[in-house]
Amino acid sequence: MLGKLKDIIRLIRVLAVRLVAGCKARDLETVGEAVLVVAPHPDDEVLGCAGLVQRLLSTGRQADVVILSGGGRSHAGCCGIDEASLVENRRQLSRRAAGIIGLPTERLHFLDYPDGGIAFDNAETGRFRQLMAALKPDSVFVPHRGEGWSDHLAAGEIVRRLTEEEKASVRVFEYCVWFWYYNSWNIDWHQARVLKMSPEENRKKQQAIDAYVTPLAPCGRPWSGVLPRVFVNACRWNKELYFEAEK
Ligand SMILES: [Zn+2]
Ligand SMILES: [Zn+2]
Repeated sequence: MLGKLKDIIRLIRVLAVRLVAGCKARDLETVGEAVLVVAPHPDDEVLGCAGLVQRLLSTGRQADVVILSGGGRSHAGCCGIDEASLVENRRQLSRRAAGIIGLPTERLHFLDYPDGGIAFDNAETGRFRQLMAALKPDSVFVPHRGEGWSDHLAAGEIVRRLTEEEKASVRVFEYCVWFWYYNSWNIDWHQARVLKMSPEENRKKQQAIDAYVTPLAPCGRPWSGVLPRVFVNACRWNKELYFEAEK
């Protein structure tokens, strides 16, 4: 009975993703000359924004990625691998994936917020503030506010608070990762923007996703833990969906 219900929910999710993919939204247009992508965990930046990062770099603009946590909880309740080596391995995957999409290592930044406990009231927010001040991005990309996953919501919340502190006008965009799992039936089409990837950009995005989901930890599961197929497949679409946040 429970298994059937799960199948039905899974089917609804697949259909919702298809529906979104078939609809027309405006193209993602000006995002400025300097863009910062904020990922709560290693892999969010690639799942949500690998096409965007490639497009920015190939058109001579500045792209930076900051990964807020090391993802050290992805095997909690699994194999008891120690968090430090888990984090080191996941960061290694981040560097590899960045190399695939052409992001130079010095443009990839790591912070040490706790996995599962990302919050504004953490000492790391001081480092995050310094990074924003150094990079002076025109636009910041954060996970969608309907992601249904506390670290993802907290990432957006921290950026909104930091940009409010700054008097400069920074535009905030939202990208989609767990959105496809939790929120794809609740789309604000007015704010939706789409980036269509070239076949080459899409091919590199697939490779970068594979760089994250294929390598296995000693226990035999992917370093990130096992992610639901529905949303990983949605992220393999040849377009990326964004939302410009309301002021
Ligand atoms: Zn994440
Ligand atoms: Zn494990």
